[in-house]
Amino acid sequence: MGNRGVEIFFLVNYYGWNILFEDEENNTLDNIFDRALHGKKIVRNQTVLNSDYIPNKLPFREKQISLIGQSLAPILKGNKCSNLILYGKTGTGKTVVARYVTEKLFERANNNDLKIRVAYSNTRMSNTGYRILLDLANAIGLNIPFTGLSIAEVLQRITNVISKNKYLVIFVLDEIDYFIKIHEDNLLYELTRSYDKFKPGSLVVVGISNDLNFKEFLNPRVLSSLSEEEIVFSPYSAEEIKSILQDRASIAFEEGTISQAAINLCSALAGSEHGDARRAVDLLRIAGEVAERENASKLEEKHIRSAVQKIERDRIYDALNSLPIQAKALLIAVTNSNPNSKTGDIYEKYQKVCIKIGLEPLTQRRVSSILSELDLLGVISASVISDGRYGRTKKITCSVSQQIIREIYSKDQVLSILY
Ligand code: ADP
Ligand code: MG
Repeated sequence: MGNRGVEIFFLVNYYGWNILFEDEENNTLDNIFDRALHGKKIVRNQTVLNSDYIPNKLPFREKQISLIGQSLAPILKGNKCSNLILYGKTGTGKTVVARYVTEKLFERANNNDLKIRVAYSNTRMSNTGYRILLDLANAIGLNIPFTGLSIAEVLQRITNVISKNKYLVIFVLDEIDYFIKIHEDNLLYELTRSYDKFKPGSLVVVGISNDLNFKEFLNPRVLSSLSEEEIVFSPYSAEEIKSILQDRASIAFEEGTISQAAINLCSALAGSEHGDARRAVDLLRIAGEVAERENASKLEEKHIRSAVQKIERDRIYDALNSLPIQAKALLIAVTNSNPNSKTGDIYEKYQKVCIKIGLEPLTQRRVSSILSELDLLGVISASVISDGRYGRTKKITCSVSQQIIREIYSKDQVLSILY
């Protein structure tokens, strides 16, 4: 074989391989598409498992539903309602009940041509006074620029629209405890005390709090106007969670595709700390996705267990991704150090990381306090030891594996150059 022959041999070989690879790729893709087209479907109705789905029936919450209904009913005759507060731990149905009742009320009001408007703001998401007012403005069809106006100005414009149009507004302020702990409660005071201001319209606030002690953070004058009525949501029992799950599963999944053992495990896991229906529904949704991806014909306990792991992994990913850049740099310094390293050693490593990524290092004191925050988050563990005549120091160990940190931060715009 001359040179030419060798060349052709290589070419054939090269393209041959390429075709082979292409074929393999096609096969895998074909498999994936085949499965999507003809594979066994377990989930019949995905939306039922989404967090914003409102079921037709809300068992075990009849009392709360009628109490809220009674509180808000006067609005149907254009009369004043009391502001109210819904309390209870996460996953006890506060959000879904509030949405359910306000939706039903809105339907009734529409039949009577009343100008009721329901506004909803989650103060953990809309985490400034301005954004909360934007949510309110949107609900009454008022355009407000995303920035630029003072709170007082926005409030004034909202008040004008409400009183001019005689709107009867129900403002649901969800996860209000987040807002109260960070911000002053002036805005809340304005919203809850301004009944006369909105005339001939009106505004009633339905506050929702996950934290039972949140009252301690409120100024007494705000407390008295906001919590004219209080409604408590107690945790569900394991049996109640099971029944809620069963209802949900029967709409969400094809008949006979979910085992009773899986539902039992799901309820037991969700009820292990307190009866948290959110955790239960989330587990069910994710387990359904896992089972379908595996092309399983039935959702079993093992899929619930995988879902638990996936939720935990996602939680760690979210926590690590949402750290400020300085904390991320510090965490990388911790993973680059031996377990039980002293703060001083970590600080040196941290400075090196900063130089590599072009970040101005913080002082050792600031770094110390960020280390404490990371400790609180559970990302590192710090123990104070006495260090002979130098006094006390901290020993720091990373609680998350280096591999996970690498996996997450190698995709980070700034930090990727370290990997
Ligand atoms: P909270 O606001 O108290 O944290 P949610 O209202 O978000 O709790 O409820 C969490 C999940 O559990 C949602 O998917 C909701 O639909 C469901 N859920 C809660 N209570 C009930 C109930 N009584 N019946 C049916 N589903 C419920
Ligand atoms: Mg909620």
